[in-house]
Amino acid sequence: MTANEIRDSYKKFFESKQHAIVPSAPMVIKDDPTLMFTNAGMNQWKDIILGTRDPEPRRRADTQKCLRVSGKHNDLEEVGHDTYHHTMFEMLGNWSFGDYFKEGAIDMAWEYLVDVLKLNPEDLYVTVFEGSPEENIPRDDEAAKYWAKHVPEDHIINGNKHDNFWEMGDTGPCGPCSEIHVDSRTPEQKAASGKSGRELVNQDDPQVIEIWNLVFMQFNRKADGSLEKLGMNVIDTGMGFERLVRMLQGKHSNYDTDVFQPIIKAEQQITGLKYYTFEEETVNPISKEQDDINVAMRVCADHLRAVSFSIADGQLPSNAKAGYVIRRILRRAVRYAYTFLGQKDGFLHKLVPTLVAEMGDAFPELKAQQQLITKVIKEEEDSFLRTLEKGIGMLNDAMGQLKAEGKTELDGVQAFRLFDTYGFPLDLTELICRENGFTVNEEQFNVEMQKQKERARNAAAVENSDWVELAQGEQQFVGYDYTEYECHIMRYRKVTQKKNEFYELVLDYTPFYGEMGGQVGDCGVICNEAETIDIIDTKRENGQSVHIVKALPKDPSAQFMACVDTDKRNASAANHTATHLLDYALKQVLGDHVEQKGSFVSPDTLRFDFSHFEKVTDEQIREVERMVNDMIRQDIHIDEHRDVPFDEAKKLGAIALFGEKYGDKVRVVRFGPSCEFCGGIHASSTGRIGFFKIISESSVAAGIRRIEAKTGKECEELLYQTEDMLKAVKAFFNNAKDLQGVIKKYIDEHDSMKKEIEGFQAQAVERAAKQLVEKARDINGVKVVSAVLPMNPAAAKDLAFKIRAAVDKSLLCVLGTHADNKPQLSIMMSDDMVSDHGLNAGQMVREAAKLIKGGGGGQPHFAQAGGKNADGLSAAVDKVIELAKL
Ligand code: ATP
Ligand code: MG
Repeated sequence: MTANEIRDSYKKFFESKQHAIVPSAPMVIKDDPTLMFTNAGMNQWKDIILGTRDPEPRRRADTQKCLRVSGKHNDLEEVGHDTYHHTMFEMLGNWSFGDYFKEGAIDMAWEYLVDVLKLNPEDLYVTVFEGSPEENIPRDDEAAKYWAKHVPEDHIINGNKHDNFWEMGDTGPCGPCSEIHVDSRTPEQKAASGKSGRELVNQDDPQVIEIWNLVFMQFNRKADGSLEKLGMNVIDTGMGFERLVRMLQGKHSNYDTDVFQPIIKAEQQITGLKYYTFEEETVNPISKEQDDINVAMRVCADHLRAVSFSIADGQLPSNAKAGYVIRRILRRAVRYAYTFLGQKDGFLHKLVPTLVAEMGDAFPELKAQQQLITKVIKEEEDSFLRTLEKGIGMLNDAMGQLKAEGKTELDGVQAFRLFDTYGFPLDLTELICRENGFTVNEEQFNVEMQKQKERARNAAAVENSDWVELAQGEQQFVGYDYTEYECHIMRYRKVTQKKNEFYELVLDYTPFYGEMGGQVGDCGVICNEAETIDIIDTKRENGQSVHIVKALPKDPSAQFMACVDTDKRNASAANHTATHLLDYALKQVLGDHVEQKGSFVSPDTLRFDFSHFEKVTDEQIREVERMVNDMIRQDIHIDEHRDVPFDEAKKLGAIALFGEKYGDKVRVVRFGPSCEFCGGIHASSTGRIGFFKIISESSVAAGIRRIEAKTGKECEELLYQTEDMLKAVKAFFNNAKDLQGVIKKYIDEHDSMKKEIEGFQAQAVERAAKQLVEKARDINGVKVVSAVLPMNPAAAKDLAFKIRAAVDKSLLCVLGTHADNKPQLSIMMSDDMVSDHGLNAGQMVREAAKLIKGGGGGQPHFAQAGGKNADGLSAAVDKVIELAKL
């Protein structure tokens, strides 16, 4: 079976078991402060599991794009070195929300693997949770009993808390799990090892690996660590697609399957190097050098997928958060390609066409954005390769220094600096050092690394206490229709972040929009006769609006009126609507390749990032502005459709964004020709925007432009400011009618006057040089020119050089000059004064400058110093002559 057929068979099987087949959520998570990337299939069901979203349909299945490179699941360092961990992989999953439980999940998993896919049951082992006496949780006998229906006792293995007890986080849903492991060793390997598959489960053997984890969520962990029963039992399973494909295609490495082979073939073609598959390696044991090449090819093939899918999902490499994680993955690939595949120029971007050819059908977002993906990767590669070269230069200098000092060890602080500024991981630094006969102090490096980790941890630490539940149920958002609404607090909790304390409230009914889709959250108050509480912000978490307050009401169970600050809300709404019109106009003016890549909408500004490959010209900007303002004047009313099935919305012509998570039912917002999927708050008609003006257009990354714009009242302010400034400028020029002409004339006059003055200055310097040389004293055969005179520093330097040109031997010239009460000391000598008299102008100027309270330096024959005390100038000049000891 091909990979694509296997993916389909999974969906078909669970469809036949009454599961709704649902799409993968985006790999990049945009609206969850606790998680940057999807790292398991269950992420997108978090709100159902936490009980804040309707669980229907209760049986679901999908294949989910996952990325495990940060936080709790970080496999990055394994990737490439082993053959079964990836950064990005697909996780096949099936879920039951309060429907079947352990028995159903176990039976279905077994039926699929053994009856449908025909995996050999003798090679399958399962694990069950052994129990935890200190937590008072018994062994999962229930799961063991159901497994016993399918496998002999010696294929059931007890597992500890680390492997067999799953937790969503420090708090929240958790429960025991059962993993299915496959012994995929060849008969020869089995015979040679003398160990049973059972003995190798969870022992990091590359041929005895876990493929499927069945999680049985039945507890909820509270902030004090104790467990309570979960309201609804949940089945959450995850099977690594690439590992399954490998088992079914009879391979012994994920990279030998049709998921990766086309990319690896392309790598071999570009580099001219060979990759050895598992079979080839077995017949023909490979050298250390060849193993490095193998690892590097795996790293690049893997990272290419992770980076390309992230960019397609709208996450570009950058300096912070999720963008930084992507940048690090990309850089890791560049390093391996650079070091082991001899790729001194960008390499990864050349593999994009192969990836798109292989996966573009299953993931159309790749195909649609191939040009952007290629461009972004290439730019990142080029810029990192430049950094890499700088880092290597720095390392070479450091090694040169060590050699000069007769040392052989690079200190760890320096190695860490290379890591921190140039992205050099320790192994690369060690490799280069080793090649040159040096070692690296690893211990020191680790200390520095630890320090940095602690700094990061302290900065990010957030402490949440348990939710205090006042009422059960799902929150109703009424903010599309109301800005005031009666409500009760359903639950609240205390949050501590960087020593700041605040509370989060969840209301039963709320008109408050929680920050989402680039639009900032509402502020306002909740109030009743007894008190008024400020809502300082509203966030969105697990599909609900969470209101942020500094202090709790005295009586949290009372009824309140929730009132949104409508001035701010209306301004944000107008900006959001303007963003839609801008998006539309950009597509009209620049072309259909314009794709939204980010947006920020607040009461006072809007920002819109989009794909476009060159600067937007001033004419194009004007055209876009005119188009948007036309639509504003047409005062088009909002045409809003809520709860439209996704496919129907697409038929309406609504624009969906890549990398955005949409439910089965979506909201469509139309203003005339602009039609988008959008959950945000909008103006009731375009006329409310008032006016639209682009403030700036710039580049944010390769292939991505950013427009900032203002609307309505903000534009009015802008107009007043501009008008005031213009008035002030006109006043300078006696309110001249032809202001531009007058200013141009002034500039021309200024330029010619400047030239004239420079000419005078040059003549003056010439004259002064002549006079000073004529007045020169002779001290023991040395011509001493000295003077204190008013002159600016540039002219003083000029003067010194003119004097040197006039006297080519035995010259000591000391000039004390001052301009604007700032003293300057200049020393100029002929070369023989340095070579024969052993004088050094730099040293002399430093010493003498003390008298003008200043400092400076320079070359042996010419040096200058500035200072603060002009009164000391003539003493300083004398001092220089004294120091010369003529
Ligand atoms: P392992 O111990 O092999 O790292 P895990 O315990 O981290 O696996 P789970 O979190 O239970 O795995 O994920 C469910 C399934 O997803 C695993 O059984 C495996 O098939 C697959 N999987 C997990 N991590 C990766 C990865 N980095 N690359 C590819 N597949 C993976
Ligand atoms: Mg793991």
